[in-house]
Amino acid sequence: MTQISLDYLIIGQGLAGSLLAWELMQRGYKVLVVDNGQESASQVAAGLINPITGMRLVKAAEVDQQLSMAKRYYQHLSTFFKQPFYIEKPMLRIFKSQAEVNYGLKRLQEPSYQAFIERINPSDAFFNTPVTQLGSLEQKQTGYLLTRNLLSCLKAFFIAQASYRQGSVSLDELQFQPELHWQGVYPKQIIFCDGHQAQHNPLFSWLPFQLVKGEILTLEYQGHLPDKILNFGDWLIPLNERHLRLGATFDRENVDTQPTETAKGALLNSLAQILPDLPPTHLVSHQANIRPCTLDKLPFIGHHPQYSQLSIFNGFGAKGSLQIPIYAQQFAAALASNSPSPSNIQRYYATHFTG
Ligand SMILES: Cc1cc2nc3c(=O)[nH]c(=O)nc-3n(C[C@H](O)[C@H](O)[C@H](O)COP(=O)(O)OP(=O)(O)OC[C@H]3O[C@@H](n4cnc5c(N)ncnc54)[C@H](O)[C@@H]3O)c2cc1C
Repeated sequence: MTQISLDYLIIGQGLAGSLLAWELMQRGYKVLVVDNGQESASQVAAGLINPITGMRLVKAAEVDQQLSMAKRYYQHLSTFFKQPFYIEKPMLRIFKSQAEVNYGLKRLQEPSYQAFIERINPSDAFFNTPVTQLGSLEQKQTGYLLTRNLLSCLKAFFIAQASYRQGSVSLDELQFQPELHWQGVYPKQIIFCDGHQAQHNPLFSWLPFQLVKGEILTLEYQGHLPDKILNFGDWLIPLNERHLRLGATFDRENVDTQPTETAKGALLNSLAQILPDLPPTHLVSHQANIRPCTLDKLPFIGHHPQYSQLSIFNGFGAKGSLQIPIYAQQFAAALASNSPSPSNIQRYYATHFTG
């Protein structure tokens, strides 16, 4: 077998592995990405970016920097691949309680929220149903990533650079002596970007993941929808004049990748509450996958406590589209300068790693 020497072997071509590989290649490193070809969370995700979240309509302090980096990053990739990836679209957040309306009114007065809120709409501005009677908050700087398209372009790019291989990396095949290698590949560093499959990876499964299953529908519809993302607990993205995406469920109990009739029914029911006049829709696809969420809601990045040539870049939860660009850039810089990574897993060495 011919031997291949590399700087980085990246395991997983989801959004995390893809952007990290891209970032390292931009810095001149020799990289190989290996992916097992299973449908990933990234391929299923809606790719939504929403800076203001939760019942209290909060924007976290780091969001400004994450969002400006994400937008610049996706714009740069769009220019390179000559196609759009990030679609900016306003969001209508439908108020579900008077408390939410009060938070909306409060945020409208706060200077740090001005760039993200357009106005508060009365109940009948777009819909007139019992569940929309409190009106809506019109948000700006929201949108969605066409993640599937971006991942196909990056895969083609990696293949063209002889930097991609389809295959499943099994830990039994990793050799540490006389130097680190896997199937004739000799990397200086292996970086696991294996999403929820990290739960089956003993090297990093000790980290406190809190995996969450999500299901999502793509529907063909007739009729008129505002050209805005609707957020009503669940959300709807009008992709074009005939197709929309509807999602996504959160299930912490049955964490598998099987689509269920229960979740489908719940999503369709939620849509009927908000848009009772939308004519019957036709189901185009129903997908399920698993979000790699974490105990402290922060990503897991950094070196294994015992094997410094092994690292992880994972744990982006439900916010991969927003967070992965900035963390990929920061982690690549940290690797290059041999300095500590952001959101470092060292915070769990003492409490969770038993050796
Ligand atoms: C239904 C749903 C909706 C979502 N909606 C949004 C959203 O609107 N906005 C948002 O930002 N995020 C959303 N997310 C979350 C988003 O998907 C994640 O944050 C992000 O995609 C995680 O990317 P990743 O690369 O870490 O993992 P993944 O995308 O899961 O990629 C991991 C890759 O590694 C491969 N792999 C694993 N183990 C091995 C191995 N041993 N050998 C070879 N290959 C391996 C897998 O096959 C996979 O291709 C959603 C997720 C779900 C499930």
